[in-house]
Amino acid sequence: MVITMITYVGLVAVCARKFFVQVALRDQERIFKESALSQKLANQKASLDLEKTRLENETSQIFTLYEIMKEITQSLSEKEAFEIFKKKLNSHIVFTECLLVDPLCDALGDYKKSSRHFIFTLQGQSDKIGYLVIEGVPDEYKEKLMILGHQFALALRRIKLYNEIEHTATTDDLTELYTRRYATERFQEELKRASLRHMHLSFAMIDVDHFKILNDQQGHLAGDQILREVGKLIRDNIREIDIAARFGGEEFCVILPDTNHAEASYTAERIRQAIERATITVYDAQIKVTVSLGISTSPEDGARMEELIDKADWALYRAKHQGRNCVCFFGLYPSS
Ligand code: GH3
Ligand code: MG
Ligand code: MG
Repeated sequence: MVITMITYVGLVAVCARKFFVQVALRDQERIFKESALSQKLANQKASLDLEKTRLENETSQIFTLYEIMKEITQSLSEKEAFEIFKKKLNSHIVFTECLLVDPLCDALGDYKKSSRHFIFTLQGQSDKIGYLVIEGVPDEYKEKLMILGHQFALALRRIKLYNEIEHTATTDDLTELYTRRYATERFQEELKRASLRHMHLSFAMIDVDHFKILNDQQGHLAGDQILREVGKLIRDNIREIDIAARFGGEEFCVILPDTNHAEASYTAERIRQAIERATITVYDAQIKVTVSLGISTSPEDGARMEELIDKADWALYRAKHQGRNCVCFFGLYPSS
């Protein structure tokens, strides 16, 4: 009986031990699985955090680029756009100096040799449009600097293209003076300004004398060269604020803001004399040429552009009839 009980208790103890070992093993396995799972989750969270940081950085970079581009593209001047870029660069990159250098600049070679300077090439569609020369920029900022540099190159290309188009639209390709279209736009603006500020404004029509004969005698190409020279002489004898244009053919005009009758007379005579005195060399021929000028002045001769052009034209017609190479004013013949 005792043996049976001992055997029974022994069996129960063995079974219980087995049971507890199994429970312990299962617990261990569960703990192991759970810890593996929590490790996996922790890894996933870490990689998600990394991805989040990366995305935040990218978003902030995109916003930075957007902000920089938004401000730069508001400017149509290369100098102004560069100043904005430099200011923006200052808040994102460490450097001591940043210069915008022309591809033909002599100092470029020296900058390239210097280890203190980082050179970023601003690439245009087919050629180099300039260089950013940045002094004292640490290596860790160079990649960011290159991204910003690319954006600035794009902005610079856009500004250059706009300026080229504007130059083509506003400049006469033979004489390099303004086109008639541009001059008439400016004429309207200047008239408004003159009227608001109660200022005078004069308008001069200038026509080359006997140009047809010159053309016939010297040839059309020589005629073109004469027009170029006359254009240059006109430009050289007016102020910075005056607007000289090729009105058409061998006719030119000059808008003279803030200029009364007496002042216009002085300028017109200076232009006439400069052209009379000049000797134009075309191939091996030395050519003399003269011009006639007709002047109208606002407000005395009218307030509208069409009226002032007509009156200057009329005065020019008088100058031709007085023998050419002279200046006539509409105001001197008010009743004619
Ligand atoms: P006037 O003293 O009365 O002004 O006589 P003019 O011969 O200058 O005037 P006219 O209007 O008879 O002739 C103007 C000439 O200008 C005729 C035209 O062939 C010439 N012309 C117009 N545009 C150009 C140009 O772009 N190049 C050249 N070479 N000649 C031109
Ligand atoms: Mg003419
Ligand atoms: Mg003429």
